[in-house]
Amino acid sequence: MPIKTVECVICKEEVTKRKTLVYKDGRACREHQEVQDAVLEQKLKEEQDIMWAKADQAMRRISAVSFIRCYHTFRGVPVMLLMSRVRKDDREWVADKIEEMGGPIMSGEETINAAFMASHIAKRVKEIE
Ligand SMILES: [Zn+2]
Repeated sequence: MPIKTVECVICKEEVTKRKTLVYKDGRACREHQEVQDAVLEQKLKEEQDIMWAKADQAMRRISAVSFIRCYHTFRGVPVMLLMSRVRKDDREWVADKIEEMGGPIMSGEETINAAFMASHIAKRVKEIE
């Protein structure tokens, strides 16, 4: 069986497929600088995507803890109902964090701070409107 060759989109040489990588609309020799740059750029993008995914997850989890404790404390919404709104893979972390913070009912000090912050935000929204 003949060795499969492809045309490099940069130097136009016929080269073995394994000497190339996917590049733009075709394949190009691995050793070209622009191919190596593209590989590095792709690797950086993948690292950034992983970093952003972790940041999104952390924000989502932290928000869920606040959301559950506020709704449970101020509106009396059952924790189980609120927890059903949390993504499955976040539930254990969220439940542990709520426990770590002293449970789903906010302390007196937390309640005062939350009420103060809510009134401050409401006032700022009126100023902006
Ligand atoms: Zn080439």
